[in-house]
Amino acid sequence: MAEAGAKNAGRFSPLVALSEDEQLFRDNVRQFAEEKIRPVAREMDEKGAFDHSLIDQFFQLGLMGIEVPEQYGGGGGTFFDAILAVEELSRVDASAGVVVDVQNTLVNNALLRWAAEEQKRRYLPKMTSEWVGAYALSEAGSGSDAFALATRTELKGKEFILNGQKLWITNGKEATLFIVFASLDPALGYKGITAFLVEKGFPGFSIGKKEDKLGIRGSSTCELILEDCQVPVENVLGEKGKGYKIAMETLNEGRIGIGAQMLGVARGAWEAALKYSQERKQFGQPIANFQAIRFQLAQMGTEIEAARLMVYNAARRKDAGMNFVKEAAMAKLFTSQVAQRVTSLAVEIFGGYGFTKDYPVEKYFRDAKIGAIYEGTSNMQLATIAKLVLDK
Ligand SMILES: Cc1cc2nc3c(=O)[nH]c(=O)nc-3n(C[C@H](O)[C@H](O)[C@H](O)COP(=O)(O)OP(=O)(O)OC[C@H]3O[C@@H](n4cnc5c(N)ncnc54)[C@H](O)[C@@H]3O)c2cc1C
Repeated sequence: MAEAGAKNAGRFSPLVALSEDEQLFRDNVRQFAEEKIRPVAREMDEKGAFDHSLIDQFFQLGLMGIEVPEQYGGGGGTFFDAILAVEELSRVDASAGVVVDVQNTLVNNALLRWAAEEQKRRYLPKMTSEWVGAYALSEAGSGSDAFALATRTELKGKEFILNGQKLWITNGKEATLFIVFASLDPALGYKGITAFLVEKGFPGFSIGKKEDKLGIRGSSTCELILEDCQVPVENVLGEKGKGYKIAMETLNEGRIGIGAQMLGVARGAWEAALKYSQERKQFGQPIANFQAIRFQLAQMGTEIEAARLMVYNAARRKDAGMNFVKEAAMAKLFTSQVAQRVTSLAVEIFGGYGFTKDYPVEKYFRDAKIGAIYEGTSNMQLATIAKLVLDK
């Protein structure tokens, strides 16, 4: 952050330095999250449903098309801007964070990178103004082994016919556009996988069961059912048989978003613990006076700082056009571990109150767990990192 009076600030920029525009953007998102999301976060968690009026406000604030060029109605911002937004939203509510994360770092990102000009003109103005997006790769039988997917497609006239079921699809309940991966021919292995732009209203498409979850309960996670689903040929995203590349490369970027989500969750829990430790008195004094608590808070802050450096660096590398695959996997792995440790300690610092729903930290604790699971489990991140450092 640019601090007044800092010497040589232009020459030696701290790794986490934000430009004035970035600071302004972050502050706006932070204020919005405090004023509009914090009051409804607990209710969304309890009901297991996202507040639709918030989605309208995400669109109005430009949070649903951060990187999309202005010509398609977007904000013309950077990937780093999207990361800042996800962090700030998740600091207050990780479900709000993931709605915006999937829209920007997966769906819009894939459209910007792989869609034909005509598809961009058709879909991006909707994605920046009214349509929520979802990214549908996983199935009941294929999670970590994503390319073993069983959803099939065949060309019939001017349409591809899709059959199968997707599972765990974030934004399933709210989305209008789904990026769906299906195989043209199992014998081709991953080379048969093709990505499709599927609209909710296409014949043969329906939403199945919604999961009842441990954390990020406000975010919908749904099954998708494709029964002779008719998708026009012009809705193939990228090239036929190149779906595996789209899936892999989009998720490489998406992981930085999950890192930002986990960074936000850890910060939210830490800030709550800092405040509580100075208010709660035992033995006639604030518990923040006890060295054990001070050291826990210091350790939590240190880990958050390290996590922030990793997430910001990975995002800056992506914006700079540098390779970021290893850094993204490391950031997601580490930040999800930090979020679990920090939120767990925050519950302990709140004592018995931390274990109740009257205080916010038990929710942060539950919300932190997903970071180690989606967009590649921690084991899969370790496999990617190990491959990149060992098998050059
Ligand atoms: C809330 C939520 C939201 C989600 N959102 C989406 C979404 O929007 N779109 C989407 O496509 N998917 C989504 N997913 C799916 C998610 O990406 C998968 O759950 C995840 O990839 C893990 O797959 P799996 O659940 O089948 O677990 P599995 O792959 O069965 O893994 C089970 C365990 O085995 C380990 N394991 C598996 N293979 C190996 C290996 N080779 N080496 C070492 N360990 C291994 C894993 O690390 C894990 O610990 C979501 C999931 C959840 C829970």
